[in-house]
Amino acid sequence: MYVLGLESTAHTFGVGITDGKDILSNVRDTYLPERGGIIPSKAAEHHYSLASKLIEKALSESGLKLKDIDVIAFSQGPGIFAPLKVSFQVAKYISEKFNKKMIGVNHCIAHLEIARKFTGFQDPVMLYVSGGNTQVITFEDGYYRIFGETQDIGVGNLLDKVGRLFEIKFPAGPEIERIAKRGKRYIEMPYSIKGMDVSLSGIETFIKRIKNSYRIEDILFSLQETVFSMLIEASERAIAYCGKDSFVITGGVAANKRLNEMGEKMCEERKTKFKSIPMEYAGDNGAMIAYTGFLMKDYQQNDLKPKTNFRTDEVKIEYR
Ligand code: AMP
Ligand code: MG
Repeated sequence: MYVLGLESTAHTFGVGITDGKDILSNVRDTYLPERGGIIPSKAAEHHYSLASKLIEKALSESGLKLKDIDVIAFSQGPGIFAPLKVSFQVAKYISEKFNKKMIGVNHCIAHLEIARKFTGFQDPVMLYVSGGNTQVITFEDGYYRIFGETQDIGVGNLLDKVGRLFEIKFPAGPEIERIAKRGKRYIEMPYSIKGMDVSLSGIETFIKRIKNSYRIEDILFSLQETVFSMLIEASERAIAYCGKDSFVITGGVAANKRLNEMGEKMCEERKTKFKSIPMEYAGDNGAMIAYTGFLMKDYQQNDLKPKTNFRTDEVKIEYR
């Protein structure tokens, strides 16, 4: 049985195919604004214009035809409405025209499931860090529960905003990581962690103020050190509290080597298992939607509309 997954919650249109065991293809294209942040209508246009080409590419890479596909899974939310509805509409079209089952997948849960798949960890504490989301999550009693989260903006969003202050193009994360490697001097920045929640927007305000007083490499180095320490501290508390034996980091910011290094070190010290996920599956991708669609293939869903505020802890997990 084969599942084709479509991702379109924000900047990336992705198509993945799985048989439930292996990822047979994972293709994508990301909308890159000329300057500034994502313009929703432009992202949607980008996704519509590439949808059929990317679906064909995914099918040909996996050596399959549309008739071989059993289930069409799509990213149901959370996300930005205009791009979000592209995967819904494309999935609906294929599902009606070719008579395929349609499954709506929570995008955050897809990031968690692909991390579990690639680490082999059954029941880890998960730090989910992407553009719009920053959450510490564990599975308890049929649901993915949020133990801690950002009280304002997502960590990727913070990196992208700080990037803009220095004219680094979206997505700024990879370039910030490169520049931060040359940083030597630590500049103290607002460190705001309350219980297991973190607050990040104060850092952007702070950097705006001090931006002309320090070297860019020291600012970006200190930014990474400060923010990642907060996230790892919140994760460590969740691990201690829940007594889980493993930890993973997932989402676009999980591509960052320094963040993974800090996660690994924390785990070493407390004898918790840690593994990084392959970079290809850190950021938004269609394979994670396909794989989670496979896990959910027997769900009977009666509300398939896009949900911009779809919460991680809304979905009853019936396959675990
Ligand atoms: P996602 O929405 O899950 O695809 O994540 C996108 C976010 O990940 C963007 O805000 C990027 O700036 C961020 N990102 C991508 N690569 C890196 C990296 N190497 N280090 C830090 N952030 C990154
Ligand atoms: Mg994401």
